[in-house]
Amino acid sequence: MAEKIRSMTRQRRVILQELQKVTTHPTADQVYDMVRKKLPRISLATVYRNLDLLAQDGLISKLGTAGAQMRFDGNPADHYHIRCTRCQRVDDLPAGAVMVKDKGVGEKTGYRIAGIHLEYNGLCPECLAEVQATKG
Ligand SMILES: [Zn+2]
Ligand SMILES: [Zn+2]
Repeated sequence: MAEKIRSMTRQRRVILQELQKVTTHPTADQVYDMVRKKLPRISLATVYRNLDLLAQDGLISKLGTAGAQMRFDGNPADHYHIRCTRCQRVDDLPAGAVMVKDKGVGEKTGYRIAGIHLEYNGLCPECLAEVQATKG
């Protein structure tokens, strides 16, 4: 934990709690819909700002891929993701599915490595079934 913990507003706490309830890796818009049930007057801009602050504090993580909407994960622990290229659904990889950490990266680049973001992509089971069904 960081030495100086940002004081948690009620809004931020609700956003964190709602995000931790799901494993669907929602977009900011989807988080907004979830949070609005508890805090009807919250604005989308407030949700965005608080998601950013939670990510900066390492309480949640941001999943960004070029061309895709940013998604948020209530589980900040190291884990890998798999994303459907068709419906953009994101799932967690089961623990131990693949864990590759090249300890030499820090030495080769001079960076202090904080984590890696490896993401698989492909067709999710639902999209695969649809694609196969339309092929006839
Ligand atoms: Zn899909
Ligand atoms: Zn995840």
